[in-house]
Amino acid sequence: MKKHTWTIILILAVLNINAQKRKEFFKSPEGVFYVSSDLHIHSVFSDGVVWPTVRVDEALRDSIDLISLTEHLEYQSHLYDIPHNNRNRSFQIADEYVQKRPLSIVHGTEITKPMPPGHFNAIFIKDANKFFGNDKEPLNFIDAINEANNQGAFVFWNHPMWEANRSDGIAKLDPIHIDVINNKLLHGIEVVNFDTFSEEAMQIAIENELTMMGTSDVHVLIEWDFNIEKESFHRPITFIMSKNRTMKSVRDALFNGDTFIWYRDLIIGKSKNLKQVIENNLEVISKGYEYNNRKVEILQLEFINKSVAPISLNYIGDYTFHNDYKYIELEPKSSKNIFVKTKKIENKIELEFEVLNYVVAPKTNLKTIKTINIQ
Ligand SMILES: [Zn+2]
Ligand SMILES: [Zn+2]
Repeated sequence: MKKHTWTIILILAVLNINAQKRKEFFKSPEGVFYVSSDLHIHSVFSDGVVWPTVRVDEALRDSIDLISLTEHLEYQSHLYDIPHNNRNRSFQIADEYVQKRPLSIVHGTEITKPMPPGHFNAIFIKDANKFFGNDKEPLNFIDAINEANNQGAFVFWNHPMWEANRSDGIAKLDPIHIDVINNKLLHGIEVVNFDTFSEEAMQIAIENELTMMGTSDVHVLIEWDFNIEKESFHRPITFIMSKNRTMKSVRDALFNGDTFIWYRDLIIGKSKNLKQVIENNLEVISKGYEYNNRKVEILQLEFINKSVAPISLNYIGDYTFHNDYKYIELEPKSSKNIFVKTKKIENKIELEFEVLNYVVAPKTNLKTIKTINIQ
């Protein structure tokens, strides 16, 4: 397929997002869509234990907008019972099943090699069968990653911290990784995979301008590993900060590094991205100078958390609070009154916080300043 034909298909393909049915995880600014995604999932067509349609139903229950069934090219555990030659089947079954419901499927696969280089997901592929040679054997790593790029895929490095590959759990680059990064064949890296989070992978992402990804890499039923109803026990979700709902815009955002990850109680991502998230999800409103019906120089503020994740603040300015210490914990979708002792009546104040559960680099939390106009 010619490149421009592919671009037109991406523009015409619109995410099946139905705003009414969709759980709102985070408020996004006007003109930006936070597309919830899990782009690393397995079914019985490789080493998962469920049929592809189950993945669709699970994602719908979890209000996920976009998934990819990234079956291993190199092994199929159930081949004896489910023989098939068409490596696109898993995608086709899921895509036919989803129909008009608010979920989109992007075609993907997992290139699965021993470390180094390890495992890689290629998503936005067109044909998984092309990852095999004339001898029907999977292509070697370099040929496979080139094939993925020829198909226009977004390629990311899976679980670089996996203790089966790295016994110290430390993600690090081997020469082959530096090679594919330099040749622009690798575009992203998992900083979160299933129940692991790697600060070293974050550092690799920052230094090499790779997109940060977080995925479930689920093989069993999602409910056996995670539970969306318990906020801190949900599956890892990568939010793609897309300009509109076309697949082209989603793909562009992935290539631009416009993502953030919700993992347990943490929000993980590049500083510029998390800045947008906190600005749109933490609101502080002045309620005036009054305490117990008495006019005072103590300012009442309402802190509102509009997101599904907690917001854990550490105030780093000079004021002190009337009821609280410098730590302010905001539960998901909740609000709290805080009384600030400003010593005199002000018409505007600034409060600076470190957001303890927003991680922008290894050992580094997001900082945010809230400017409050006092009525
Ligand atoms: Zn893997
Ligand atoms: Zn996998």
